[in-house]
Amino acid sequence: GFKCGIVGLPNVGKSTLFNALTETQAAQAANYPFCTIEPNVGQVAVPDPRLQQIAKIAGSAKIIETQLAFVDIAGLVKGASQGEGLGNQFLGNIREVDAIVHVLRCFEDDDIQHVSNKIDPISDAEVVETELLLSDLESLEKRVPGFEKKARGGDKEAKVALSVLGQSLELLREGKPARLTEPKDEEEQRVFDQSQLITAKPVLYVCNVDEGDAANGNAMSAAVFEKAKAEGAEAVIVSAAIESELVGMAADERAEYLAELGLEESGLARVIRAGYSLLNLQTFFTCGPKEARAWTVHKGAKAPEAAGEIHTDFQRGFIKAETIAFDDYVTLGGESAAREAGKLRQEGKEYVAQDGDIMNFKFNV
Ligand code: GDP
Repeated sequence: GFKCGIVGLPNVGKSTLFNALTETQAAQAANYPFCTIEPNVGQVAVPDPRLQQIAKIAGSAKIIETQLAFVDIAGLVKGASQGEGLGNQFLGNIREVDAIVHVLRCFEDDDIQHVSNKIDPISDAEVVETELLLSDLESLEKRVPGFEKKARGGDKEAKVALSVLGQSLELLREGKPARLTEPKDEEEQRVFDQSQLITAKPVLYVCNVDEGDAANGNAMSAAVFEKAKAEGAEAVIVSAAIESELVGMAADERAEYLAELGLEESGLARVIRAGYSLLNLQTFFTCGPKEARAWTVHKGAKAPEAAGEIHTDFQRGFIKAETIAFDDYVTLGGESAAREAGKLRQEGKEYVAQDGDIMNFKFNV
């Protein structure tokens, strides 16, 4: 599955956000640094209103949303790359996620201690980023001499690595993230994708604001948005405090509370959706009388890979995919009508799955 790692300095609201996300109390929020020690993984349903529409048309008894995993990663402090505090463990955990959700404290509260006694999300972000940059820099400085030696000996793979990761190393030395590396071709892209560089991962900044600022943000969140824009990263405004209150509410109560605050939807819905797009993911559907279900697959994935999300047998024995575009399904009013209108397509192995496709796989066992 696909994983987003929640990172940030201690006491910025990571655990509060994680708990709200997973609707569990697995990671206990407490007012002291190092509260979150083990990474906690939570599976979160991806909200998608299309699923209700499909279920209604197909007469499905049940709806199953697709899920995205969020990992609450232990607090990072200055000096992590030198092995201070929980730094090493943090860096190890963060290497395993696909995207980084970076929580920044954009709220004032004298009762809640800040690690450097000053509320400044931009400088907080830089503390975390510096540690990540230093860690990547150290890792590449160890690896590059080996590539150089092998490349001199004529090793093709090492030459590719040297070219692309050499470029990353230059960027890191200038204090820039490896994300800005431009692989020359597919070979370089592959080596880069496998490089496990932390600063190559996509980033979403979550501005954690007070209840009163949830609708429009504040000066601190505005500064974060500017930073995100300059870096080609994404940012969202969330009030972790509101989100944790929403968890315990019934649907109508939630809607009323959100309206009172001037919000259209929960901040978490936006975090989940942003995480989904950050990872370059898309959704396809399966449906029948039993259930309507959403599945996740990479953008650009071909039909057999999509089938493999459901079951490895579906991928191995793949014959074809009967496919209806979401709009056709809804406009025409279901599978038989779509079939009659010639909108149910027979797609083979090379078909690239499209967002919203309703698929039915034929396979050999
Ligand atoms: P973590 O160390 O980053 O995981 O931070 P926690 O989630 O444990 O939060 C630290 C403290 O800040 C807790 O006491 C939370 O209740 C509090 N907190 C979290 N978000 C907010 C917020 O939006 N406003 C205020 N005033 N307090 C918050």
